[in-house]
Amino acid sequence: MIQPEQQRRAYLEALGIDTWVPRDEPEPAEAADLSEEPAEEPDAPPVRDGLDWPALRDAVSSCTQCALHETRTQTVFGVGNENADWMIIGEAPGAEEDRRGEPFVGRAGKLLDEMLRAVGQGRDKVFIANILKCRPPNNRDPKPEESAQCRGYLERQIELVQPRIILAVGRIAAQLLLDTDTPVGRLRGKPHRLGDTPLVVTYHPAYLLRSPSQKRKSWEDLCLARRVATGAAA
Ligand code: URA
Repeated sequence: MIQPEQQRRAYLEALGIDTWVPRDEPEPAEAADLSEEPAEEPDAPPVRDGLDWPALRDAVSSCTQCALHETRTQTVFGVGNENADWMIIGEAPGAEEDRRGEPFVGRAGKLLDEMLRAVGQGRDKVFIANILKCRPPNNRDPKPEESAQCRGYLERQIELVQPRIILAVGRIAAQLLLDTDTPVGRLRGKPHRLGDTPLVVTYHPAYLLRSPSQKRKSWEDLCLARRVATGAAA
């Protein structure tokens, strides 16, 4: 015998009216498995808005955002005058920095100190920090996710210092800060901007130790930075 529901559908179809047929319930295997954890999204870079110096230091020293915390001896926050006119930004701590917890304390750091002193900016006058606060094993280049996770710390440091000039030392710092893959040789020699802050690029002191003939260009960069910091160059 014809069922009332079949009859209703036949009738509606005869009138050219679409009928809605409930689908079979999915097999349990096909049904969404709500018991499972949702797929893990990569962590968004943390925002460090509003942290004061002590809170920012604490956040850095206890940071576990990327795998570098597993291999570091300690974090390297940055050092110097918290109200400096000059902020120096390098790449990442090396072995000596990782041991001592201070940026640029190896051979390259000594050369950087000399260069800065030559333009009247000793280590106690400037603020020195790195893109990464933890040492990458074997001093390899920072991975994009490491610099992205660490970026908020540096941005907050820049906001707190409010420098007149940022000196980016070396390819990694310059390219990451300016979001470019232009070589240092083409980035140096002219002022850039990071937000509202003027930024000058120069060679990394470790490179200058290997290529002393480039020191003259680095001197020119520091003189440019001094002119920008004092408002004598745009
Ligand atoms: N090189 C850097 O870029 N930063 C340091 O702190 C040491 C070496």
